[in-house]
Amino acid sequence: MGTITEVFATSVFSDKVMKERLPADVYAAMKRTIHHAEALDPNYINTVAAAMKDWAISKGCTHFSHWFQPLTASTAEKHDSFLLPKGGMSAIEAFTGKNLLQSEPDASSFPSGGLRGTCNARGYSVWDPTSYAFVKNKCLYIPACFVSYTGEAMDKKIPLLRSVEALSKEAVRLLHLCGKTDVHYVRTTAGPEQEYFLIPYDLYMKRKDLQYTGRTLFGAKPSKGQELDDQYFAAIKPQVKVFMEDCNIELWRLGINATTEHNEAAPCQHELAPIFDTTNISNDTNRLALDVMKTTAQKHGFACLFHEKPFKGINGSGKHNNWSMATDQGENLLNPTSDPYHNTQFLLFLAAAIQSVSDYSELLRVSIATAGNDHRLGALEAPPAILSVYLGDELTAVVNAIADGKKYVSPVKTTMNVGVAAIPELKKDTTDRNRTSPFAFTGNKFEFRMSGASQSISEPNMVLNTIMAETLRKFANRLERAKDFETAARKLIREVFKREKDHIIFNGNGYSKQWQEEAARRGLPNHATTPEAISVYDKPEYVKLFADHAVLTPDELRCRKAVMFDNYVNQIKIEAQTMCEMVIRDILPACFGYSTELSVTDSSAAAEIGVRVNTLTDDLYAATKNLEKALEGLKSAGIGEEKAYYTRDVIRPAMDAVRAPADELETIVSREYWPIPTYGDILYY
Ligand code: ADP
Ligand code: MG
Repeated sequence: MGTITEVFATSVFSDKVMKERLPADVYAAMKRTIHHAEALDPNYINTVAAAMKDWAISKGCTHFSHWFQPLTASTAEKHDSFLLPKGGMSAIEAFTGKNLLQSEPDASSFPSGGLRGTCNARGYSVWDPTSYAFVKNKCLYIPACFVSYTGEAMDKKIPLLRSVEALSKEAVRLLHLCGKTDVHYVRTTAGPEQEYFLIPYDLYMKRKDLQYTGRTLFGAKPSKGQELDDQYFAAIKPQVKVFMEDCNIELWRLGINATTEHNEAAPCQHELAPIFDTTNISNDTNRLALDVMKTTAQKHGFACLFHEKPFKGINGSGKHNNWSMATDQGENLLNPTSDPYHNTQFLLFLAAAIQSVSDYSELLRVSIATAGNDHRLGALEAPPAILSVYLGDELTAVVNAIADGKKYVSPVKTTMNVGVAAIPELKKDTTDRNRTSPFAFTGNKFEFRMSGASQSISEPNMVLNTIMAETLRKFANRLERAKDFETAARKLIREVFKREKDHIIFNGNGYSKQWQEEAARRGLPNHATTPEAISVYDKPEYVKLFADHAVLTPDELRCRKAVMFDNYVNQIKIEAQTMCEMVIRDILPACFGYSTELSVTDSSAAAEIGVRVNTLTDDLYAATKNLEKALEGLKSAGIGEEKAYYTRDVIRPAMDAVRAPADELETIVSREYWPIPTYGDILYY
C-alpha cells in the first residue's frame, strides 16, 4: 500500500489536487471558501467542475453523485454518468458547473415532516464547497445540502452550516472586544469517537432482528458477560486487527484521519477515533466512515453494528462528540493556557459554554433523542438523561475562587513516581477524568457524551453552535456597552460562575441514584425517554432562538419535531413486528419440537422440563397475541406526539412481556432446537 502519507487522501479532491489542477486564482478562491467561508465566485464554478471531472475520470470514475443527508438515519446518493451522447452513436464525457452546483433528485419520499407534499415534491441538492469531494466505487461524490423548492432545509447539513455562521458572527464580536481584531471567522471543531460491535456475519444473517432493527430483540444473558473486564483495551483479535488495517487504509484514502483504535468494555466492542476537523467535515467523514466500516467488515466476514444497544445487559455504543471553537488564526478558544485564572478571554468562552448548557440543556437532550439511545442513557454505562457540566479539579478551583471572590492558588504540576528505579518520573495532569458526565471539559475541548453510535453528529453540533451563539451574543451586547471591558468582563464571568457552580456544574458521579435526586432539587430537567424530550423542542423560547440566529425557521423546526416522532414510532413498530414474526415462525416451532421430544422421553427430568417449556410457551404465545393487539391499536393512536406516547407506554411494555418468556425458554430448550444464535454464540468467537 505504501506509507500512510502516500495513501492519505488519494481519493479526495484535496487542497493538493486543487493546487495542481486549478488556475492559481481559482485555487485561491476555493481555499478562501473552504478555510474562511467566503462565497465562491460563480464564474469559477465551471473551471472547478472541469478539473473535478478530469481528476475523477483519471481515478476510473464513470459516474458522479450529489451526496446528502436527509432526515433519515442514512445518507442519500443518486448516480449520473458523465456520458453525453453527441448523435451518430458518439458521446463525450461531460460535467458542467451546473452539474456540480445543483441537481434535482426529486426524492419525494424522504421525510419532510410536512414541509412539502408529494404533489409539490421538487427538492434540490446543492454542492457544499466547504467539504471535500471524493471518489468511491468509480463514482465522484459531491457533498451536498438538500433544500425544498421553497428553500427550506430538508437535511441535517444546512442547519449545521447555518449554526456555524451564527456562532462565528457572535464569537468574532466578542473576540474583537478582547482585542483580537485580526480574527475574521470562527469555526467549530469536532472529533467523534465511534464505538461499534463486530460480530460474525453468518450469525448476523441468522437473526432477523439484527438485520431489520440493528439490535437483538431476544437473547438470554450468557454465562459469561463483561464482568471480568477482560475485553476492555485487551489485545485485539488477529482477524479483527486485519479488518481494522483494511478499514484504516480505506479511511485514509478518503482523507479520514483514523488514528486511535482499541477494544471497548463489552465483548466484540471496539472504538475508532479520528483526528478532529471542522464540525461540517467531521460530520461528513463520520457518515462516510460508518459506510466504509460496514462494507469492509462484510469483506472480512463480519457485520459491523452501530446500534446504541445491540445486546441487552451488555454495554451499548455511543459516539463521544469532542467539541471546541477555533479562530481563522488557529487559536483554540477553549485552551485554558497556563494561567486560566487570569485569562479573561478563555474564561468568557468557558462561562458562555457553561451558561449555554444551563439555559438550553433540553435542546441538547432533544438533539440525541432516539429510540435506540433510550436504551443507553441512564443505564449505568452512559450519562443519565440529565445534562450537567464537568470541569475537573483545576477549573473548578478557578470557578470557585472567582465566584467566591477568593484568592486562587494554581496547582503545582506534580510528578508521579511509579516506584521502579528504571522508569523515569511522569508528569501528572492537574485534572482527573470523569467518565460519567454528559458534558465534560477534557483539557482544551468539551466532550459531549450523550450521542448514540448510529446517529449523525450534525444535530448535537448544530445545537451546541446555536446555543453558544446566543450566549455569546448576550455577552457581546453587554460588554460592547461597558466603559471598562476588563472590569465588566470579570463581573460577567463572576455572575455566571456564581449562578452555575451549584447548578449545572457537577463533578460527582453522574451514574448514582443520589445525583438524580440532587439534580431534581437543582431543578435540572430530566427527560428520561425520547417522546418527553422531543415534546419540548418547539417551546416558544426555542423557536425564537433558532429563528433569531437563522438556523431553523419555525416551520423547519416544527417539521423536524414531527419527523422525530415518526422515526421513533416507526423504529419501535418495526421492532415489535419483527418480534412477532420471530416468535411465530422461529421460536414457537422450536419449542413445539423440543416439547414433543420431551414428551416421548421416558424420564422424570424430561417430564419436569416439559412442563416448564409448555408453560413458558403458552406465556410466550399469549404475550405475542397481546403485542399484536397493541400494534393494531397503534393505527388508531392519533398522530405525532400521541402516537409516540402510545408506542412508549403500550408497545414497549408489551415487547418486554414477549421477551421475558422467550429468553427463559432459550436457557432450557436444547441447543439443537434453538433456532437463532445466542449471545454466547455471537459474542465469543
Ligand atoms: P481523550 O483521550 O480525552 O478522549 P483524545 O486525544 O483521544 O482525547 O481525543 C478524542 C477526540 O477529540 C479525538 O477525535 C481528537 O481529535 C478530538 N479533539 C482534540 N482536540 C479537539 C478540539 N480542539 N476540538 C474538537 N475535537 C478535538
Ligand atoms: Mg474521549
